[in-house]
Amino acid sequence: MDQADVVVAGAGPTGLALACGLAAQGVGVRVVDRATGPATTSRANILHARGVEVLGRLGAVGDLRDRALAPVGMRMHVRSRPIATMRFAPNEREPVQALFVSQAMVEERLRARLAELGGEVEWGTAVTTAVQDADGVTVGFADGGRARAGWLAGCDGAHSAVRGLAGIEFPGVPVVEQFLLADVHAGWARDRSASAGFFHRDGLLLAIPMRSADGDLWRLMADVPESGRRLAEPDIVAAFERLLPERAGETGVRIREAVWTSVFRVQRRLAADYRSGRILLAGDAAHIHSPIGGQGMNTGIGDAENLAWKLALVVHGRAEEALLDTYTAERRPLATEVLRRTTANTKILVGENAVTRLVRDRVFVPLLTSPRVQRQATRTASQLGVTYRGGPLGGRGRAPRPGDRVPDRPCRRTDGSPARLHAELGPAWVVLARPGTATGALLSTAREHLGPDVTTLVDDTAPGAPLVIRPDGHLAWRGTDPEALRRWFAGALRTKMGA
Ligand SMILES: Cc1cc2nc3c(=O)[nH]c(=O)nc-3n(C[C@H](O)[C@H](O)[C@H](O)COP(=O)(O)OP(=O)(O)OC[C@H]3O[C@@H](n4cnc5c(N)ncnc54)[C@H](O)[C@@H]3O)c2cc1C
Repeated sequence: MDQADVVVAGAGPTGLALACGLAAQGVGVRVVDRATGPATTSRANILHARGVEVLGRLGAVGDLRDRALAPVGMRMHVRSRPIATMRFAPNEREPVQALFVSQAMVEERLRARLAELGGEVEWGTAVTTAVQDADGVTVGFADGGRARAGWLAGCDGAHSAVRGLAGIEFPGVPVVEQFLLADVHAGWARDRSASAGFFHRDGLLLAIPMRSADGDLWRLMADVPESGRRLAEPDIVAAFERLLPERAGETGVRIREAVWTSVFRVQRRLAADYRSGRILLAGDAAHIHSPIGGQGMNTGIGDAENLAWKLALVVHGRAEEALLDTYTAERRPLATEVLRRTTANTKILVGENAVTRLVRDRVFVPLLTSPRVQRQATRTASQLGVTYRGGPLGGRGRAPRPGDRVPDRPCRRTDGSPARLHAELGPAWVVLARPGTATGALLSTAREHLGPDVTTLVDDTAPGAPLVIRPDGHLAWRGTDPEALRRWFAGALRTKMGA
């Protein structure tokens, strides 16, 4: 039977990001996927700033910036009348911005990075059984094959088989009856620098420009009542040909070809736990919600990064299993908040009844013209403000507090060469200090617990006491006393070494 430290079920963005993070930390990982090969359909089409940042730390951004399209915002209309433009207003002080790239491109980049790290996806390999004992998990595949691993990570999407095998509940409710989606090449004399949202009493119609050689590719989305009949591609295209004049007053759009169509129900569901013994969940296997706001792929990639460094420490015997419970404790509340927000926004935008439609058209949408609201909305969607300060590894004191994200910044290595903080992180940890601060004892203490992957950087603008920064860019600890740092590691990693 094949052996691995970790079997990752699912080679979507979450599973691939996890596999890259684990492989970069020397963990033996097998990635299996039920599908016969990579998905070619676009699916998610925005990678928010946090997702770009995570891919950067994984070394997986590659040429994505060159392949991205960057609409400046969304023009909102009540029927065909423009009422507001919501601009994406990234914080100028943050060096990282969202990229409008398809999920297919993100997955392609992650697969390329995994290959650089010596890994590959085993296609046509569906996980069907998982039996865990004290030392590991025996994983069975649909083709009769089996593997023995220390851990099984279920990154196998909304209908996760792994979640079922682990006996983890996935409670939730439907949010919107039915959404139609079509990526279409269309003759449409419309400005492609922004997306368009059309609000109508019957529902919503969204048109989002997508990158294509001919510059004529659009994603169309609309909520429609359930018809009780299975809709094929021609039905969906015909529905949009009807909805464009009806909801947007657009009579001159000529849909030439559909690249991808889909019908989906929007559900809001959250796994009761992200861990059951030696089985862990991440991404859509752990949380699903409305695609409005484009949070799914980003949240999954963020789960993967949080889990990767913790699981690597456990696999290498540097931390006890209890560290993995901090994964659930840090990431599940974030998903709860994403579910709450995307559900509320979807309900408002879809306009379920006359009252919500009135609030949408007279209050909500006009508010979105305010630069302050735009900055705040962009910031929230970016997930750059995510903090774990309230979690088990969080702490008190001045900002940044333990658990807060430490933004990227230019720094210098100890030999004086220029570096950027986030480029040094992942898999490495960083001790960041002002020039001239004694950090040798802190570095040795960190290496005692973490192994050699700890780097010291200096920065004139760093806060007073040195910062010990986790591979995922969040602050672990700040201070000057190596004994206090040793105690922190003993508690956080619950290592026998530090106990
Ligand atoms: C229309 C639409 C638009 C969206 N827009 C956005 C957006 O703009 N931004 C955003 O962030 N998110 C968006 N999302 C959500 C995003 O697509 C998902 O959140 C994302 O795909 C989740 O990634 P994942 O890796 O967790 O799961 P998935 O992408 O679902 O990957 C799961 C993988 O597991 C495999 N698998 C399934 N069962 C098994 C098994 N038993 N054994 C082995 N492998 C298995 C599957 O073949 C698949 O490859 C959108 C979704 C939709 C539908």
